[in-house]
Amino acid sequence: MPTPLIAGNWKMNGSRALAEEFGRAFRDASLPEGVAVALMVPFPCLEAAGRAFEGGPLALGAQTLSQHPSGAFTGEVSGEMLRECGARMVLVGHSERRSLFGEDDAAVLARVQAALDAGLTPVLCLGETLEERDAGRTEAVVLGQLEAVFDGLDAAQRGQLVLAYEPVWAIGTGRTATPEQAQAVHGAIRTCLARYDAGLAAAMQVLYGGSMKADNAAELLVQPDIDGGLVGGASLKIDEFLAICQSAG
Ligand code: PEP
Repeated sequence: MPTPLIAGNWKMNGSRALAEEFGRAFRDASLPEGVAVALMVPFPCLEAAGRAFEGGPLALGAQTLSQHPSGAFTGEVSGEMLRECGARMVLVGHSERRSLFGEDDAAVLARVQAALDAGLTPVLCLGETLEERDAGRTEAVVLGQLEAVFDGLDAAQRGQLVLAYEPVWAIGTGRTATPEQAQAVHGAIRTCLARYDAGLAAAMQVLYGGSMKADNAAELLVQPDIDGGLVGGASLKIDEFLAICQSAG
């Protein structure tokens, strides 16, 4: 069974002071054994968060990266720069990057490769819109996004990813997928992974994201193919995020 992972995504929220509060609170908190926790913070918070998380359970992550290692790309941040700031993981293909910043499957694959080249763990986000779900295309869309990346990687690279299934209609809407809806897609993802390699399918962490809160986390996390959560809004509140982490044990 993959190690459960609860990863918070602050999006363009939070502050260095909040990162310091999280670092202190999590160092003192009792977390269930074997549960991994991480926070994906905005770029300017990375260094302060890295210092604040030292000696505690929180791993540090970023929310995106450039597909390029360096060069004339004003405003961009490379994987190596993220690593230098202490990041160990990075979100790639979040639905907000896909829809608001035009990142298509090719751009997502390029960023996954850039993250791997920099020694970062890419957390690859997959998910369908409401229109796609209503049209009965959920599996085709989600597995298509997965294959667009996995077909471009070799076996060793595939084994270094974490996946997050995040139905777009559940992100930031307060409308969570039911445990049955989420498990059905996670099961399809696991079956798809097994077509690449059975060992990969068994070992890969596949997180659920979309309005996960303290009061719905347990019923989602208990599903056989859900290995953790990617948490947006609720990861900005220490008590709420801690409660979600505790329900992963
Ligand atoms: C996210 O941003 O990945 C997310 C799941 O957000 P929320 O939990 O707020 O729906």
